Amino acid sequence: MFKMTPTIIKNFLSKRATRYYPYEVREPFKDARGELYNEIEKCNFCSACALKCPSQCITVDKKNATWECDPFACVYCGICVDTCPKDSLQQKNTYRKPALERQLIQMKGEVKKKTDKEE
Ligand code: SF4
Ligand code: SF4
Repeated sequence: MFKMTPTIIKNFLSKRATRYYPYEVREPFKDARGELYNEIEKCNFCSACALKCPSQCITVDKKNATWECDPFACVYCGICVDTCPKDSLQQKNTYRKPALERQLIQMKGEVKKKTDKEE
């Protein structure tokens, strides 16, 4: 007990090591891999991001031009961003805010008509 006393006093008197998150949020790091967003007008619904995602949290429906992500399953690895051939996927340097309910990121683009070459 007496051996620990100096440590207890030191910790009691020193500045706290943690923040009152989410009330106190630290400045984001410049290249932090944070929340995912999709510039849907650039997306061609190829599904490459969904196939590469290790968390399987992306769903793409080419027929209906929809892109969906479950941000609560995302591990912010950035593989989908590196995979996207259209550079439509990006990551902010901030993280998803805490929430009481699970919400999906759902985006709808335009169904692209096939050109003669694609048919
Ligand atoms: S990889 Fe890029 S272009 Fe392909 S579906 Fe995903 S976001 Fe869209
Ligand atoms: S950042 Fe990683 S886990 Fe999150 S959606 Fe992209 S590939 Fe999946």
